[in-house]
Amino acid sequence: MAESSKQDDVFPIASIPEGAASLESIVSTEELRRRPSRPPDYEKENRALVALASALTDSSSDIFQALADTILDVTQCDSSGLSLLTRDNVGKKFYWPAIAGAWRPHLGGDTPGGFGPRMPAAKECLLVPFYAEGKAVGTIWAIMHSVRRQFDAEDERIMHALGQFASAAYRTMESIDDLRIEIAAREKAETMLRERATGLEAKIRRLVNANIMGVFIWNLEGKIVEANEAFLNMVQYNHENIVSGSVRWRDLTPEEWRGWDELAVANLKATGTVQPYQKEFFRRDGTRVPVLAGAAMLEDGGTDGVAFALDLSDQKRAEEAFRRVEEKARSIVDSALDAVVAMDADGIITDWNKQAEVIFGWPRPEALGRGMAETIIPVQYRLSHQTGLRHFFKTGEGAVLNRRIEITALRRGGEEFPVELTITPLQSGDTWTFSAFIRDISERRRAEKELRESELNLRQMTETIPEMLWSASPDGAVEYGNARVLAYTGLSAGELMGNGWLKSIHPDDADRVARTWMSSVTTGTPYRVEVRTLRAADRTYRWCVTSALPLLDPQGQILKWHGTIVDMHDWKQAQEEIRNTQVELAHINRAMTMGELAASIAHEVNQPLAAIIASGDSCTAWLANEPPNLDKARTAASRVIQAAMQASDIVQRIRALFKKTPSTTTPLEINDVITETVSFVDGEVRRKGVSLNTRLALDLPAVLGDRVQLQQVLLNLVINGAEAMAGAENEPRLLLIQSALTEPHRILVSIADTGPGIDPHQEARLFAPFFTSKPEGLGMGLSISRSIIEAHGGRLWATRNEPRGAIFHFALPTATANE
Ligand code: ADP
Repeated sequence: MAESSKQDDVFPIASIPEGAASLESIVSTEELRRRPSRPPDYEKENRALVALASALTDSSSDIFQALADTILDVTQCDSSGLSLLTRDNVGKKFYWPAIAGAWRPHLGGDTPGGFGPRMPAAKECLLVPFYAEGKAVGTIWAIMHSVRRQFDAEDERIMHALGQFASAAYRTMESIDDLRIEIAAREKAETMLRERATGLEAKIRRLVNANIMGVFIWNLEGKIVEANEAFLNMVQYNHENIVSGSVRWRDLTPEEWRGWDELAVANLKATGTVQPYQKEFFRRDGTRVPVLAGAAMLEDGGTDGVAFALDLSDQKRAEEAFRRVEEKARSIVDSALDAVVAMDADGIITDWNKQAEVIFGWPRPEALGRGMAETIIPVQYRLSHQTGLRHFFKTGEGAVLNRRIEITALRRGGEEFPVELTITPLQSGDTWTFSAFIRDISERRRAEKELRESELNLRQMTETIPEMLWSASPDGAVEYGNARVLAYTGLSAGELMGNGWLKSIHPDDADRVARTWMSSVTTGTPYRVEVRTLRAADRTYRWCVTSALPLLDPQGQILKWHGTIVDMHDWKQAQEEIRNTQVELAHINRAMTMGELAASIAHEVNQPLAAIIASGDSCTAWLANEPPNLDKARTAASRVIQAAMQASDIVQRIRALFKKTPSTTTPLEINDVITETVSFVDGEVRRKGVSLNTRLALDLPAVLGDRVQLQQVLLNLVINGAEAMAGAENEPRLLLIQSALTEPHRILVSIADTGPGIDPHQEARLFAPFFTSKPEGLGMGLSISRSIIEAHGGRLWATRNEPRGAIFHFALPTATANE
């Protein structure tokens, strides 16, 4: 080794490969310096160094070869070179492969392929290490292969200088190499990137053009620079709109989404990307399209970006449809009259509808997630609930499943109440859900109880009521008679049933009653008969009114018949007596009226009598003539007959009024009845200073009635009017009888006077029997008149006359109306 150095440790002995040079052949530097040395040739040396330096700047790749040539030249050695310290592949051994070298030409060679300090056999070898950054990196060497000369101190000095140059050259080369490697690596990376970019770009292009989703290039100013078909279709714009720059993504965003966009832009600026988020875009027509949008900046810190938009309309529509279906389902469940609740296998409430809220008092959000048992089951039943559930999971059977049962439930307030429920287990995969339909039946229970009570009440009432009540089935079979019926008829409940009741009917009535009842049952019309029924108490048949009404369901079907039996026997007898009395009274009233009319009646009868006398006289006179004038006598005689008939007629009519006759109904001309009546009273009223007039409508339809009774009414009203005016000395006394047809089937007769009118205090009692304001009055006239008119199906009433007096009206149905 020519140079001992502090970097000895860099070359551990063991690592030095065995070479051809033996240890003894190594000359120490000391010994070299003891040899006689030639003088330094600085000029040559400088030239060499300048040449080397320029070689280094010109073509750095050849610098090591140039260095080897320079060593050869300045040391006058046989071969020279430069070796780099290199580790073997495993890094255990070092060796010095020469990377450049030069031979003296006489040694027979140009630059050999492989050479080093060992080959060919060397006589003397001068090795100088060189360093880079304090580490030995290689050696430069000069070798003498002959004894032509020996190296001296000058050689060592030059080699040392060249070693420093080698170090500089090495460092330069190293940095150049590093640079080259770096450049190469960068180029390679760039190429790869470019390749990758072109591949990726192509793929992205394909994606963009596939129009699976909307893609557009945008910038931060709000412009859309480029967009694919899908995006344009989505927002209803075309390429021209994009090119003209009129489509701005900010404008496409509805107000309420702008905030999201701002957030997205902030993210883009910070991280270069934004995670997909849902928003809406305006379409050109102003409608909106829901999208999933995402974006990325094209370059970090740039202003352009790419965005995609996925049309969510279908999804939204589907979601909306699903939501609506769900809403509908929920609203159906919520509108259910039953509580619909569900729990999972752990007994946790998973569904709870509106009615459940109402029934149990737990709002849905509170109920969900609670345990079913502690929410709706009273504490004393929870154990059996748990047991039932366990049993179900063990055996798949449950006593309460899929059928309607009644149990006690618990309200939030602690109240227990009866419910009816059905539980349906549902399995989906491994999970079980139990749905229950629960109906609060406390109201029904209460109603049932009330019904029972009210039925009992009603039963008690029908049994204690002092009336006879009975009911029959729709087909007419008697089903029930209350205690009164049984007591009255003496029949047992069993005997009464069906048509057993007929036993208590008078044999003469039984047929008629049975027929009427069956006809009511078949037609559904109310039933009412007067029938003689055997009263058990005294074994007598008594007149009863038996009636019944059908009870109908909403469709009009008969559900039942409900009836009563009223003993009318006493009432009927009383009625009979009243009727007789009335007839009596009417007769008396007539007789009295006629009594009042006696003078005018006499006058009326006198008239034909006088005519008879006069005509009889003249008849006699004509017969007494010589010769007797038979013609004249015959005429006189016929006048006698005529007058006699007239008299007889008057007497007949008066007798009719006096007679107590049963009423007969015939068609009557009301005007005739009026005229006839007037003929009776005319004289009488005239005597009282009253002028009586009639104003009768022509062509009036007939009425059906009793002549005598209607005359009685007219007489009463005319006499009353005349009597009312009797006191008024200086007032005109006018009585006007009018007839008219007021309605198609109604005839109105009115009798108006100019008397004092009706005393308002007495108005209410006017028609009451025995009401009179007259000292001699009986007070039956108006009462009898009203019952006569009402018996004719008409009406009698009084009003005020103007300027004074009273008007009495009666209206009668025409004969056709009666039909
Ligand atoms: P009477 O004529 O016997 O009193 P009515 O029953 O005929 O019985 O009349 C009852 C009462 O009605 C009369 O007493 C009289 O006070 C009153 N009255 C009847 N007609 C008239 C009339 N046209 N004007 C005023 N009052 C009348």
